[in-house]
Amino acid sequence: MTENLSVEQCFYNIEENYKRITARIAEAAAKSGRGAEDIRFMAVTKTVQPIFINHALSLGIDLIGENKVQELQSKMEFFKPADVEKHLIGHLQTNKVAKVLPLVTMIQSVDSVKLAQQISKTAEKLGKDMDILLEVNIGDEDSKTGFSADELLDSAAEIASFPFVHIRGLMAIPPICDNSDMARRFFSSAHQLFVDIGSKNIDNIDMSVLSMGMSHDYYEAILEGATMVRVGSSLFGSRRY
Ligand SMILES: *Cc1c(COP(=O)(O)O)cnc(C)c1O
Repeated sequence: MTENLSVEQCFYNIEENYKRITARIAEAAAKSGRGAEDIRFMAVTKTVQPIFINHALSLGIDLIGENKVQELQSKMEFFKPADVEKHLIGHLQTNKVAKVLPLVTMIQSVDSVKLAQQISKTAEKLGKDMDILLEVNIGDEDSKTGFSADELLDSAAEIASFPFVHIRGLMAIPPICDNSDMARRFFSSAHQLFVDIGSKNIDNIDMSVLSMGMSHDYYEAILEGATMVRVGSSLFGSRRY
């Protein structure tokens, strides 16, 4: 949150931000031939204090994303409602899988076959199933984790054979783009992969979630077919680490 603002001012800002974002989501959805209800909104709550997260939840937001297991764990006792849906969206090390599985309903950041296998094994032990998204490195950037477009289909087919994980779609983070046409091209290729894999009708793969678009580019992502956007700083203000 911005420094030196009262809690009331921060609450007010979150409300105004949320109104503005939902209006833009509805506009982009309409332009893409869909309705606002077709786009799931995730509030990305990394570095945000629980009092502000809970205020966002009181406005009707029903899904939050955290990118670190430890931070999520430390906030668990504060969420209201406690059972708000939570997804992990950051890189996950195999040695933290057992910690995070009980806390979330989806892991969006599955970036290797090995990680998916570990999730499946751990889920089996815990007696649950885990929904996952495969993270695509859509710009083939060395600095980012995720499957390259080339390896995605083969990896998806291999992961589909693990019985306790279920592939529900893709998460894509494009390179930083200085214009919206360029961003749209990356989102469009992620959408194409999403459609292609879905059309193969592989057992245990159900391509229903295309998670893409953040504060600066959710509008473009929706125009290109995102079904879920992940918004942090536009909602809560810029992050202080
Ligand atoms: C931080 C984060 C976001 C949200 O970013 P903003 O630009 O603050 O909206 C979305 N997705 C992932 C994976 C993130 O780590």
